[in-house]
Amino acid sequence: MTTQQIALITGANRGIGYETARQLGGRGMTVLVGARSAERGAEAAEKLRAEGVDVRAVEIDATDAASIAAAAAWIAAEFGRLDVLVNNAGISGGSFEKPSATSLDGLREVFETNVFGIVAITNAMLPLLREAPAARIVQVSSEVGSIGFMMDQTSPMWSAAAIAYPTSKAALNMVTAQYAKELWDTPIKVNAANPGYCATEFNGNSGFRTAAQGAEVSVALATLPADGPSGQLWGYRWGAEDDTTYSQLPW
Ligand code: NAP
Repeated sequence: MTTQQIALITGANRGIGYETARQLGGRGMTVLVGARSAERGAEAAEKLRAEGVDVRAVEIDATDAASIAAAAAWIAAEFGRLDVLVNNAGISGGSFEKPSATSLDGLREVFETNVFGIVAITNAMLPLLREAPAARIVQVSSEVGSIGFMMDQTSPMWSAAAIAYPTSKAALNMVTAQYAKELWDTPIKVNAANPGYCATEFNGNSGFRTAAQGAEVSVALATLPADGPSGQLWGYRWGAEDDTTYSQLPW
């Protein structure tokens, strides 16, 4: 079996996921560019290959159990293990509707990708992650899923009241904590990343950070040393004077 580290990043055909694949590839890992569209995944992989990254494209849709199972079976056959899983794929569900105007269909749609999809992918990949010497799982979340941050009247998010996206990330934060507990006595570390507000298609490129800066958070959690944390929400602190220092955030 190869000693080369293998990293799967979901939703890696664009945005923060693409930059995460690029940065992990730059560190010498073999990156598996997860994309729900085989065509978009192949295009992204081709761009990374042109930069010298050892890359393969993998079709994986967080809402499609068959595609998740097929991706896990392919990784098992090709590599026999997985060192890094970055569950990056996520959707906003559109504009922030007020709680009183929340559509249940929209809420279900966001949870399908941002919560149920991540549990499905994590469980499908766990046997492969357990085969690695010290796997790292990164759940790409947000401070918007932090109840403490949302209820802080001095925080930039105080003015936003919405259910779908914030509750999906709050649920993902707890999902992260529960996996960290189950895997506490193993070498596997599980953390939630807060990339900060990054300019991607996700928000009509309105973010004040770059996708590459957002990816730095996932990369740091994907490459944690043996004495690194597990079960934390970690990353960019909105409002902090220092934009480049990342830290643990309150759940
Ligand atoms: P983005 O540019 O919209 O990219 C999202 C990626 O997820 C795309 O590759 C998209 O694929 C993929 N995706 C969506 N639904 C999927 C599904 N069902 N299965 C597989 N892939 C799926 O967004 P981004 O800004 O890079 O966001 C990446 C992550 O960071 C998300 O989890 C988001 O919640 C989180 N985040 C973003 C910000 C921000 O300011 N941008 C802040 C905090 C957290 P297609 O190309 O096929 O649509």
